[in-house]
Amino acid sequence: MASSYKDKTTLPRMNPTTNTLFWRYRRHPKWSRILQLVMAVAFIICLIGFSRFLADTPKTKVLKNGAYDSSKIYTLKDFTNAYGISQKDLSMLVPAPEQIGKEKATLIMLVRNRELNDALKSMRAMEDRFNRKFRYPWTFLNDEPFTQDFINYTTGMASGNTYYGLINKDQWSIPHHIDQDKVKANMETMVSKNVIYAGSMSYRHMCRYNSGFFYRHPLLANFQWYWRVEPGVEYFCDIDYDVFEYMRVHDKVYGFVMAMYEYLVTIETLWDSTKEFIKKHPQYLASDNSLDFFVDNHPPTKSGEKEITGNYNLCHFWSNFEIASLDFWRSQAYQDYFSYLDSEGGFFYERWGDAPIHSLAVGLFLPKTKIHHFGDIGYRHPPYSRCPQDVESHQSGRCFCSRRDHFDDDGYSCLPRWWNVAGQSVGAGIKLD
Ligand code: GDP
Ligand code: MN
Repeated sequence: MASSYKDKTTLPRMNPTTNTLFWRYRRHPKWSRILQLVMAVAFIICLIGFSRFLADTPKTKVLKNGAYDSSKIYTLKDFTNAYGISQKDLSMLVPAPEQIGKEKATLIMLVRNRELNDALKSMRAMEDRFNRKFRYPWTFLNDEPFTQDFINYTTGMASGNTYYGLINKDQWSIPHHIDQDKVKANMETMVSKNVIYAGSMSYRHMCRYNSGFFYRHPLLANFQWYWRVEPGVEYFCDIDYDVFEYMRVHDKVYGFVMAMYEYLVTIETLWDSTKEFIKKHPQYLASDNSLDFFVDNHPPTKSGEKEITGNYNLCHFWSNFEIASLDFWRSQAYQDYFSYLDSEGGFFYERWGDAPIHSLAVGLFLPKTKIHHFGDIGYRHPPYSRCPQDVESHQSGRCFCSRRDHFDDDGYSCLPRWWNVAGQSVGAGIKLD
């Protein structure tokens, strides 16, 4: 008859493999219950630990009940519980990190929600190379509302404050004076010629917005300076000084890194319209302007010149990188220029880009000395890269890029022309050591 061990006063005989302390206690009713309890507690502790691991743990310390405990890292849940708010509102409440740079400046990105990954890539490089030292705020603009995901991830990546702005529909739509049939017909012709972005209406809105509206966005009202950043770009060098302060102290208005030729088919009538505008407003033509950069063999500009002569060589500053004054775009001269160009309709009938328009404006309305080439900044916007050429930038470890792989002296670059008329800045130049 099989007997239960409960009937025995001594533990039953076990085979050698199970004759361990564990099995002994396992078989004892009291110890067995304690063991089960310990295991259950251990299991619960593991479960809690695991769920906390899975929970969203923010990198930042956040306010709780209005108090800030710098020794504690709060979870998002702590935060939302403390304020009784939804996670959706979270980005509005993360305390503003203190700005270190002293200028009224912001990094600006016009971007679509689907470009989040590329936006983060640009931000990571910008933060590592420059902004973590200055914590300037980021301003994101979009013709559609930003998704919560976009807001959360970009806020997490920024070392400074973040602002998200929606673009007014009337600044992103075809104005009434435009003949839509003509737009359609011209678009089809350009598509048949394989012109890049020929068939895209949103690209035209983007170019028009960057030309005439971004600086009027209410979020930018209190800023004087901006650095334009696009999704998917790279910065190759540490920038250890405040570029905005540099612009102010050196009385600069517009900064660029690359210059190149525009596709003529996209701006067939832009030069004529610009000439016409200057004829109407000769007072806007600066005396020591950059006409000798835009027109081949143009004699150095004399003061008192009131008209533009010669043909446009299509050279322009590549505007996906800009460090510039918002006040310049807000000036009467530029507002008049944009209104005139907009009335001409070239943003839609052709495919005028903001790069040649910005370039012509700064080149004509400003003295050349107010335009700065940032020769010390390494930059890539596909498909082109430029890398500082001086030895120090590389031997110091400041830059990581190949000095042999640079756009400055490419046949498609206009920088050699700029050097001819304005001289070279530190880090520019085509000589390799
Ligand atoms: P490319 O540099 O000329 O090839 O043009 P991109 O596609 O890079 O566009 C220039 C900038 O405008 C980038 O910052 C884009 O993210 C942004 N952009 C272009 N099209 C749109 C659009 O339809 N909506 C929004 N919100 N941003 C756009
Ligand atoms: Mn781009």
